[in-house]
Order: sequence, then C-alpha cells, then structure tokens
Amino acid sequence: MSTQTVKAPQAHHESMFEAVLARLDAAAKIMNLSDEVALVLKNPSKQVKVSLPVMMDSGKIQVFEGYRTVHSTHLGPSKGGIRYAMDVNSDEVMALAAWMSFKCAVANLPYGGAKGGIKLDPRSHSVGELERISRAYAVAMKDVFGVNKDIPAPDMGTSGREMAWILDEFNKNTGEDSPGVITGKPVAVGGSLGRDAATGRGVMVNALAALKKMGLVPTAVTAVVQGFGNVGSHAARLLSEKGVKIVGIGDHSASFYNEKGIDVAAAIEYASKNDRNLRGFTGATEIKNSELLISKCDILVPAALQNVINEENAPHIQAKLIVEGANGPTTPEADPILNSKKIICIPDILANAGGVTVSYFEWVQNKAGYYWTEQEVNERHDLKMDIAFEAVWHNASFYKTSMRIAAYITALQKLEQGVKLKGAY
Ligand code: GLU
Repeated sequence: MSTQTVKAPQAHHESMFEAVLARLDAAAKIMNLSDEVALVLKNPSKQVKVSLPVMMDSGKIQVFEGYRTVHSTHLGPSKGGIRYAMDVNSDEVMALAAWMSFKCAVANLPYGGAKGGIKLDPRSHSVGELERISRAYAVAMKDVFGVNKDIPAPDMGTSGREMAWILDEFNKNTGEDSPGVITGKPVAVGGSLGRDAATGRGVMVNALAALKKMGLVPTAVTAVVQGFGNVGSHAARLLSEKGVKIVGIGDHSASFYNEKGIDVAAAIEYASKNDRNLRGFTGATEIKNSELLISKCDILVPAALQNVINEENAPHIQAKLIVEGANGPTTPEADPILNSKKIICIPDILANAGGVTVSYFEWVQNKAGYYWTEQEVNERHDLKMDIAFEAVWHNASFYKTSMRIAAYITALQKLEQGVKLKGAY
C-alpha cells in the first residue's frame, strides 16, 4: 500500500481532466479521429458522488466524500482502482477514469475505464475506521459495481485489505458470492498470484523493451525510482534483479542516492519495519526530495504522485528514459521539454498497465474458478506488455510522434471501433 500524505503538486492546467483532453486532442489531430468519437470520449458516461457518514473510534460521526466515475464501457465492463487520498475530487477521478479506458485499450483488455476514491488521509485513521469507511463505500456503490458491469481494484492508499472488505460487504448486500466483482484481492479470498507485484513488473518489462530499442543493456544502466509503495518498490526490485543499478530511491518521508548502487532488498526490508517509510535508511546518502528526479541516472521511474515532472524540473532531468509507474506524473507543459531533450517517456497508460492486466487475469480466473501458477501469470503478463509496447512503438514511428501521443493513438484506434460499432441512440 502506498499511502501518501503529501499533497500532489498542481499542474498549470487547473484541471487534471483538461490535461487528459489536451493529450486526447493532440492524438486525435494526428490520427484524424472522428469528431463524434472524440465528443463521446470527452464526456464520462457516469459520475457518482456519495456522502458516507461513519462512526469514528471517538464515538463521533464523520462524513466522507466518495466518488466513482465510469468513463467508458465501449470495450467491456468498466475497470479501475479506488484511491484513498486527501486530494480526491471529481475532476481527478474523472481524469483517472479516462486514463483507465485508454490503459485497458492499449493493453488490449476487454474493459472500459473507471476510477473511484474517498477523500481521506489513510494514515490518520485506525484499521477499524478504515474498515467501516470501506464498507460504507461498498454499500453506497452497490448498484454501480458488478462483475460484468464495473470492477474496482486497489489504487493509491488502498491494497488487498480494503478490497477484501469491499468484496465482503458487496456480496452481503447483493446476496451473491461473486469474487470477480473486485480485483487485487488477497490470494486467500480469490486474488491472483503475481497481482501484488504486477504494476512494478509492467514497469520493468516496459523499461527493458525500451532499453533494447535504444541499444542499451540493463547491466550497463542506472535507475532512480521515486515512490516506494507497491509500484515503486516492486519496480526497483525487479529492475535490480535484471541487473539495472538502482542509484536513487525515495518516498514522501525521505530520498536517497548512492552512485555505487542501493541494495533494494535491504531498503524494502527497512521500510517494512519502519511504518513503510524510507526515513532513516542508511544504505545511501540522504538527498532532498526535489533533487531525486533530477539526479544522475539513465532511467527515471516516477512511481508516486501526479504532476511531479513539470516545466520547472523537466529542463534539469538527466535521464534518457522515463517510465511512468504513477498515473499522470508528467504535466502537459513538461511533455515538449522532454521531447526536445530527446528523452523517451513511456507513458503511464502503457508503463503501469501491468497492474490492470493481472487484474484482468484475476477476473478470468474468478470466472473460470480455476487458478494459475505465478509463472503462468507472469509469462502471460510479459507477453501482453511486450505486444502493447510494440504497438505503441510502431505508432510512434508511423505517426512520427512521442510515445505518449502514440499510446493515446493506439488506445483511440480501439475505442473508435468500439464507439462506432456499438453506435448511438
Ligand atoms: N489502480 C490501478 C491502475 O491505475 C489498477 C487498476 C485495476 O487493476 O483495475 O491501473
């Protein structure tokens, strides 16, 4: 679980959804997307906001804002995580839902896109309070969620623990026993082997695919990973297992650099005993959080918050390759700066699609009632990611554009078919 108490930096685009639209427009122009299809995709299909009155441990009732936005269902039931964070709001959830539609389309999954969230700081609630809030959210959303309708999963600030509570409450309220209504569950209650590490694994597979295209080998390059939650820690571990030297790591509590390389397993072990924080880690020199993204490395993996790569720090980034583990870590203003510096940026909707890919495998296993080995999950994941990477790489060279816009084009090509074939009233 990556619980972040830090407020995400604001992009110049006041709205995150506008940042999505800016990229959609850029891709639409290059690929000649029909205006009607663009119009449909610019308007999320369903937005639900609920108030959740929940009894705190103190005996006082507090009311939480809960959200779920379904962006599209043209390619299948909607899919996407639930985040617990203080900056959750309708605009952010709408942007994240649209990204899920594009991400599922890029990875060629039979899903539309959705996202949900509750505005709260998970670090300032007891386990009991978190359970009651999660259950209240599940009840409030019982008509939105469904195994063939809308399938949630973990996101920032949530993990298998919250998914198990939500599953249990949903099933109690609907009278069904439908494990596939939610993914990212603990393995004991129908989760998939390999799901926990999947987003980090996808980051690793994408990084290796890009390095190959760049004529570089993993054992000759260094990486900096920002964020040490579920995505960042697994990405750092898996990259280091492939021979990449991890020279920088950091989370909201502290950042570290060691040009000789950081022992990632030791850092994971340290964080697990230190309330999931890196603060106080002694295997590297502590640096300022703001220095981490611009420190010397070949690969930069932003795997924490949105809008961290912006027009202020983009000119100083030294990496040759950026692989976006987080959703929306780069602002639209930073894109042209990275492009002019010839930095290859593997965008979020491709780079972090490993998580939802294994969520899809979990859903398939739940439907079949037959479970795969971790090796089967990983092999099928790697294959899907390689195919997605190649499709986007092809579009980048075909349309002579960045990997980000090429990923949007790849997604929009699929979504355009879905929208046109299903038609309208
Ligand atoms: N929250 C993750 C994402 O942003 C996973 C979504 C899912 O597995 O449905 O991709």
